[in-house]
Amino acid sequence: MAFVEEYFGINVFNDSVMRQRLPRETYRALHKTIDDGRRLDPQVASVVANAMKDWAIERGATHYTHWFQPLNSVTAEKHDAFLTPTPGGRVIQEFSGKELVRGEADASSLPSGGLRSTFEARGYTAWDPTSYAFIKEHVLCVPTAYCSYSGEALDKKTPLLRSMEALNRQAVRILKLFGRLDATRVTPTVGPEQEYFLIDKSLYDRRSDLIFAGRTLFGAPAPKGQELGDHFFGTIKSRVQAFMNELNEELWKVGVPSKTEHNETAPAQHEMAPVFEIASVACDHNQLTMEIMKKVARRHGLHCLLAEKPFAGVNGSGKHNNWSMFTNTGYNLLEPGDSPHESAQFLLFLTSVIKAVDDYQDLLRAAIASAGNDLRLGGCEAPPSVISIFLGDELTEILEALEAGSHYNGREKTEMTIGVHMLPKFPKDTTDRNRTSPFAFTGNKFEFRSLGSSASISDANVVLNTIVAESLRLFADELEQAEDFSTALHDLIVRTIHDHKRIIFNGNNYTEDWLKEAEARGLTRLDTAVDALPCYTAEKNVRLFETHRVLSATELRSRRDIELDSYAKITAIEARTMIMMTRRQILPAVIRFSGDIAAASRNIQSTGVPFSSGEELLSDLCSSTDILSRDLQALEKALRDAPDDSDSLAEAAYMRDVVLPSMTDLRHTADRLEQLTDRAYWPFPTYDELLFSV
Ligand code: ADP
Ligand code: MG
Repeated sequence: MAFVEEYFGINVFNDSVMRQRLPRETYRALHKTIDDGRRLDPQVASVVANAMKDWAIERGATHYTHWFQPLNSVTAEKHDAFLTPTPGGRVIQEFSGKELVRGEADASSLPSGGLRSTFEARGYTAWDPTSYAFIKEHVLCVPTAYCSYSGEALDKKTPLLRSMEALNRQAVRILKLFGRLDATRVTPTVGPEQEYFLIDKSLYDRRSDLIFAGRTLFGAPAPKGQELGDHFFGTIKSRVQAFMNELNEELWKVGVPSKTEHNETAPAQHEMAPVFEIASVACDHNQLTMEIMKKVARRHGLHCLLAEKPFAGVNGSGKHNNWSMFTNTGYNLLEPGDSPHESAQFLLFLTSVIKAVDDYQDLLRAAIASAGNDLRLGGCEAPPSVISIFLGDELTEILEALEAGSHYNGREKTEMTIGVHMLPKFPKDTTDRNRTSPFAFTGNKFEFRSLGSSASISDANVVLNTIVAESLRLFADELEQAEDFSTALHDLIVRTIHDHKRIIFNGNNYTEDWLKEAEARGLTRLDTAVDALPCYTAEKNVRLFETHRVLSATELRSRRDIELDSYAKITAIEARTMIMMTRRQILPAVIRFSGDIAAASRNIQSTGVPFSSGEELLSDLCSSTDILSRDLQALEKALRDAPDDSDSLAEAAYMRDVVLPSMTDLRHTADRLEQLTDRAYWPFPTYDELLFSV
């Protein structure tokens, strides 16, 4: 491979390619669209489309697609060749401005949550010029948003772009008050750290649960788990390193700035972190990352598991969503700053996030809710389902001192008056010690750690952008009316700290004590996705999203229903997979093994040598097998009795309350049988093989 500088972004129609290939006027017009959200002139679109096509064909592309992100958290694409037949049996390759800007998508099989009935299935895709087009295996991919004909969002991209606009509108109002007239645009930035597991493909192929559910539904613990802490940051094995090298090359070629790679806590678990980008591009790039991880793993005889909890008893996988806000002048609004003026501005943006998280704990919880993440949250080093903020002791003391009007007694004694004094320098590392918090301030950004590893980062960022926009809107309304800005600013910050400090918690989030204290503080506790998802349509939340024109009541309702529906469907698939594996693999295997033990035992006893262990084992096996049969029948009945899917909440609640416990019982018995059964008889690979064979 050549130098990274030479091939980074080689398959991306990025700014430097545009500058090279577009007439200057077209390039300028396109930039107005990209930078200021101006409408794209059809003539400009035609010129861009043609240049894009020529470039793509030179790079080996034959097709194009409107690449979009439907509501089931994956990406969708339908390929069209550039070719148009011409008289004489020949073809030319064409790509018009119209085809670039807008596409029709007959996507009747994609979830719409009742927004689009199947007989009027068509939606349309619209080019998102803020995210560069790229080539993926002979296909020119044009990132697009996907909407219904009446304009309702049917995807994850549209509300993300709308929420970025909402945040921009309100943040710019605040900056104006601080006299920062040079900053005309504010954009949220995101760096999503992606965790994943790698297992041997040949073992994966032998487990139906991994194939159908993406996670193990059975499996007794291996003798060794993660207790020695020897995997985290450990030396990377050559086979995994070869995978990571190729992953990086593939990601770099499509412009994903993959930066950090390391082993994670659980055996077979790893992480990749990119350099942060604007939220919408980070979201596109994270979707691409997950797709490319799976593809590259195959080439190495591996399988990449992105599920939140592929293995019981060891760490699950999450996605740490590092989030901040940048001005178009390159200034990070969550950077504490080097002057009293900047410190004051920082404190205002910081408290806007504190208020937002406290006011909308329920929405943040809903945004990360899924069947898979339920299994991860609150267990094995994953944040609990109660949202709180970690600020670190020093920043917390500063806020406390501000609230009390007293001196700050940090490293140096300093008096803090907003707008007059500068924040003391706190070393970055002291703000990043607590790994147990769901939402941690880490020096100049917040890290939302509760996202599931397989989820699109869109939902979480839509909520973050919108709730912070709401805090900023209220702040701006108040400050714009103020007679004396400094006094009003001081009062507002102090009042906000006072009203919302309950959300700040610097202790260990993994303890029972914290959950009790959180309850005493009145924080929202929503243990499962089924509790959390209905929050999308709570009155205050509908008002929030409508105020900022991010999602309408109808769109929110459809999202809630799709998520609940998917919770129920995923659980049903898992239950059916367990039934299949039990009936067709586990039961026959243990019965065969029991029979052989019975025969062997009889054989030995016939010699007259005193011998009882065969009978003991047999009796253990037989009683567990009987329990297994009963558990199996109970699960089958639970599934049969499930309510129909007309009420998605009732169905999801039934799955959680009746089907899941039944699955847990069955697994428990099967795992016990696994530990009693000769390895040679066990019908699929066990945890020790899955976790330790790469
Ligand atoms: P760690 O959290 O492991 O200490 P870093 O804090 O350096 O590592 O970065 C973690 C992720 O946060 C990276 O993806 C990085 O690009 C991203 N990040 C850093 N600064 C920002 C920012 N201002 N906005 C959004 N993401 C950021
Ligand atoms: Mg981090």
